Amino acid sequence: MLSHARERRGVRRMRMAKCADIVDRLVAQGGLSQQEYIALLTDYDRSTLDYAAEKARAVREQHFGRGVYLRGLVEVSNICSCGCYYCGLRAQNSRVVRYAMTADEIVGACAQGYEAGLRTFVLQGGQVAGREEFVADVVRKIKSQMPNVAVTLSLGEQPTEVYALWRKAGADRYLLRHESANAELYRAIHPEGMSFENRHRCLAELRGLGYQIGAGFMVGVPGQTPQVLAEEMKLLEQLRPEMVGIGPFIPQSDTPMGGQQSGSVELTLLLLSMIRLVLPEALLPATTALATAGQDGTLQGILAGANVVMPNITPLCYRDKYAIYDGKKSSGSESVEGVALLQQGLETIGYEVDWSRGDHPQFAQE
Ligand code: SAH
Repeated sequence: MLSHARERRGVRRMRMAKCADIVDRLVAQGGLSQQEYIALLTDYDRSTLDYAAEKARAVREQHFGRGVYLRGLVEVSNICSCGCYYCGLRAQNSRVVRYAMTADEIVGACAQGYEAGLRTFVLQGGQVAGREEFVADVVRKIKSQMPNVAVTLSLGEQPTEVYALWRKAGADRYLLRHESANAELYRAIHPEGMSFENRHRCLAELRGLGYQIGAGFMVGVPGQTPQVLAEEMKLLEQLRPEMVGIGPFIPQSDTPMGGQQSGSVELTLLLLSMIRLVLPEALLPATTALATAGQDGTLQGILAGANVVMPNITPLCYRDKYAIYDGKKSSGSESVEGVALLQQGLETIGYEVDWSRGDHPQFAQE
């Protein structure tokens, strides 16, 4: 018995040493082989998380110091024509009370955020056709009324002309998580008609139009093996998006994936650190999903190498209607009312808000 226990301890020590070596190689090379990613994502433990986070913090501090950028998140509408199996806003979910904010409401929410010091606004919503001119108009209004702000859009897959129209209106950045680099997993969580290829076409076109682009994926969707996560890392190595949004998958009870398990907070933190080491200058948010699933998720995310937080500035009357997953946090330090709270939290871990608009370092301020 004793020798068995000793053997197990020995194996664990070997794995830990191996994981630390792999993290060292990631630091040195800015990337790993598929096999190394798989080994790290299979054998990691608490000490690996701490070690990777320490390395990730060192890299983020070289590029960004201890500043954390803020983005005011406006959930402009929960009307969506898509049927993503994981998302509570899917068109087939008849239990959602649908809303679409008016232009005045959106611009007003941003103006309030501007007063509070925010210099980036993220307009996120479901994917619909027919609102192209409306969105362009809102972007123009924000950019003309509020000096030196960046506007980020996150409105799903659109034709090139639409992305071009919005860019011309003044949009600076676009968030469109690729959701999965693995075609099979992508198919398993999306209905027919949605394709991994189209998602990638969109990202390529957005980049061609001069947007700072954001890719990303959920952590812990059923079927996402270490092999698949290694593919996600390889994709990020190649695509090198300016922003990467990741957060644990959290089931929404009115969706086909409502009965599944939530993704792991620890694995999300490890992946955040790994992404920071692959993309030292990336804008990496500690996402709302992380804050929702984890104890002190936002601060944990910052300590793992994230450098962005997105306080929710959606008017209160709409906030609980943007329920992409169950229990979504939108108050406290996750909201604009809570920025002071967030500042206090950041201070306790030795970080502070950076009030600039926080472009990717490769993009000159416009
Ligand atoms: N319609 C936009 C915005 C989608 S919501 C678009 O298509 O890009 C933003 C992100 O929330 C999605 O990209 C997805 O990765 C994430 N998300 C959706 N449902 C989720 C869930 N149940 N748990 C965790 N994250 C989820």
